[in-house]
Amino acid sequence: MAEDYYEVLGVSKNSSKEEIKKAYRELAKKYHPDISKEKDAAEKFKKVSEAYAVLSDDTKKSQYDQFGSTGFQQRYSQEDIFRGFDINDIFGDVFGDDSPFNMFFGGGSRKRQNRGRDLAYELEIGFEDAVFGCTKEIEIETLDSCDSCNGTGSKDEKFDTCGQCKGTGQIRVSRRTPFGTFSQISTCNECSGEGKKILHKCKECNGTGRMVKNKTVKVKVPSGVDNGSKLRISRSGEAAVRGGIAGDLYIILKVKDSDIFERDENDLYLHVPISFSQAALSDEVKIPTLEKEVSIKIPSGAQSGTKFRLKGQGIPYLDGYGRGDLFVIIDVVTPKNLSKEQKKLFEELKKTEEKKSLLEKIKEFAKGFK
Ligand SMILES: [Zn+2]
Ligand SMILES: [Zn+2]
Repeated sequence: MAEDYYEVLGVSKNSSKEEIKKAYRELAKKYHPDISKEKDAAEKFKKVSEAYAVLSDDTKKSQYDQFGSTGFQQRYSQEDIFRGFDINDIFGDVFGDDSPFNMFFGGGSRKRQNRGRDLAYELEIGFEDAVFGCTKEIEIETLDSCDSCNGTGSKDEKFDTCGQCKGTGQIRVSRRTPFGTFSQISTCNECSGEGKKILHKCKECNGTGRMVKNKTVKVKVPSGVDNGSKLRISRSGEAAVRGGIAGDLYIILKVKDSDIFERDENDLYLHVPISFSQAALSDEVKIPTLEKEVSIKIPSGAQSGTKFRLKGQGIPYLDGYGRGDLFVIIDVVTPKNLSKEQKKLFEELKKTEEKKSLLEKIKEFAKGFK
């Protein structure tokens, strides 16, 4: 279960921006890995920062409120969550380049890890697949790990430690300036920061560790997704050079419309045509819901636009808790092409109707709206 961001920060849904910021400031100070003596300070610091990154951003916050923790994290990757978030906005430039964020996102780590590119794929699914969830297999052409060398780029999978950086992936460069000599750490240019060198290149992939392949990916679509929902399948994107971390694969869903239901977020609308006599005399009609047929009773005197609410018969919420509602809307249909007999019956009916003037009727009808 994903954690609740409000609980992580100890604030409520109604807390103001200022209150959320204050709560985060205190927790961030408490858990900052440079200051805190707690055992999993870095992990806790990241958690409170993640919660703040979301709750301090209006767009992300409203998405989070709408979809809940699980649904939100299906839509947002870690990079997305922290995009546009700068800890220096909160604390001033006190942490500098050694900010723990660099530590989380690779900037501060010593050996550089190659990372493959993220990929996006548009997947069209049926209305019912979106409602109930489904598993699809897709085939994508992408750079994948080389089979011959297991993605290492080395024919015999043997490596030498890089002589220039002694395997650290970094070198210290001294720069002389009018103010004195500064030394700076930068990525080793001999090994591109990998810290090792291939002894014999794999011929299949020319030492890159990857080749173009058609790969099949299983996509698990959770129930309740909608048009434009984004799923992330981590490490299923492009392979990285020489055994680094593969990128992520983003699936963007296109959901086909239903033949009978209209969808509004998690609620469904169903228009049911009934005849004059059914509306006037009451009747029981069978209507389809997502799962089965149910009977509803049309009361006598039902008007066009009469709405019935079938609670919990709508679309499941992405976070797995509950469902929307199904609204049934009655449309009284004026008959066309009457048979001789029907025509006669309507003539009879007409004779029995009240002989009020049209203006009186209009006034009476208008009262109903006041
Ligand atoms: Zn090196
Ligand atoms: Zn290879």
